[in-house]
Amino acid sequence: MLADKDRIFTNLYGLQDGGLKGARSRGSYDGIKGIIAKGRDGIINEVKASGLRGRGGAGFPTGLKWSFMPKQSDGRPHYLVVNADESEPGTCKDREIMRNDPHHLIEGCLIAGFAMGANAGYIYIRGEFIREREALQAAIDEAYEARLLGKNAAGTGWDFDLYVHHGAGAYICGEETALLESLEGKKGQPRLKPPFPANVGLYGCPTTVNNVESIAAVPTILRRGAAWFAAIGRPNNTGTKLFCISGHVEKPCNVEEAMGIPLRELLEKHAGGVRGGWDNLLAVIPGGSSMPLIPAGATGCDDLFMDFDGCAKHKSALGTAAVIVMDKSTDIVRAMTRISYFYKHESCGQCTPCREGMGWMWRVLTRMSEGRAQKKEIDMLFEVTKQIEGHTICAFGDGAAWPVQGLLRHFRPEIERRIDEYTARSSELGVRDPMPEAAE
Ligand code: SF4
Repeated sequence: MLADKDRIFTNLYGLQDGGLKGARSRGSYDGIKGIIAKGRDGIINEVKASGLRGRGGAGFPTGLKWSFMPKQSDGRPHYLVVNADESEPGTCKDREIMRNDPHHLIEGCLIAGFAMGANAGYIYIRGEFIREREALQAAIDEAYEARLLGKNAAGTGWDFDLYVHHGAGAYICGEETALLESLEGKKGQPRLKPPFPANVGLYGCPTTVNNVESIAAVPTILRRGAAWFAAIGRPNNTGTKLFCISGHVEKPCNVEEAMGIPLRELLEKHAGGVRGGWDNLLAVIPGGSSMPLIPAGATGCDDLFMDFDGCAKHKSALGTAAVIVMDKSTDIVRAMTRISYFYKHESCGQCTPCREGMGWMWRVLTRMSEGRAQKKEIDMLFEVTKQIEGHTICAFGDGAAWPVQGLLRHFRPEIERRIDEYTARSSELGVRDPMPEAAE
């Protein structure tokens, strides 16, 4: 279990003053001049050595991402963009940082901006986050007043301006290139890659897009050292992580823990355990609704370490570390059908496999949840998920196909049982064709 002294987000629950005075009393901006004095390469190397991997879902090494920015400007400005469009169902960690501990993020922006040669940063915040935007803007205003932002920010000699941009509530704007389009005032639709944002990003200029939690962790890493961060967790999966625990637990919560904590320990220490006890667990989605579920049992949740490699071992992913717990009262097929509906609704519609496939999957799953299907359609549905995965412009297609794959991988007998029941019921009632709507 993570010791209190190793927590980065010490005001996650808003129990103390989230303003500048409170943040400074908890160590924010301490030694900021010394951190900037390490130079661009010094900072990037330290972040690389810490092993910090992006906290937005993909888990790409943060220091490496920063190093992709051009070393010298070719005349175009560089930009830092922070992805605060937290819209993945089950995920509510960045929201708490912006509400209660926003100066971690602001200080992180200054450091990251300097490290990538950016004099301006944009925080793109989710449309539904009204109060969070206000809290963040108030914190930025305070930082400007205290000369921690703007010309010669925090006396470091680096000019850095930070802007908050409010989105309009589309899930797809959390995809980094859709976010950039939206920030430019266009419709939020993902761009084809390459070119990648480090070469051609915001307004056609070199840009790095990072998640809120990744950036907010950076000041503490640089103050306490890469070795401290790297010593927490497991190799290749280092540091602390905010977990959002929801669903069928006694006390749903957000908590900062060490990467690699066993799932059972995480749930029992912080969320009061699974409702009805550990044996009442049916499955978890470990990292937000776009990740495949992992079933209960010795080869599933009993053996699940909550980090990138731990989840990958079970053909899932840590994603945003939003742990959605489902006990045995869950109608798992309906639950996955509902998730499918969400993705059908949020597809931006540019790619045919995604635009058409999302609705197709949802319709078939709806029938399957009622048993109104043929068993051969189970394989057909799996095949369709494979035709979507990897065949679209952005990762949305993968993220919508994976939950369905997880369902079919682990709960196929449950779908077959429903089909059998429905067929038997129909025969009893004398219905000649129990499944009139075959998949097309
Ligand atoms: Fe849009 Fe879906 Fe294609 Fe992504 S995968 S660009 S969301 S249609």
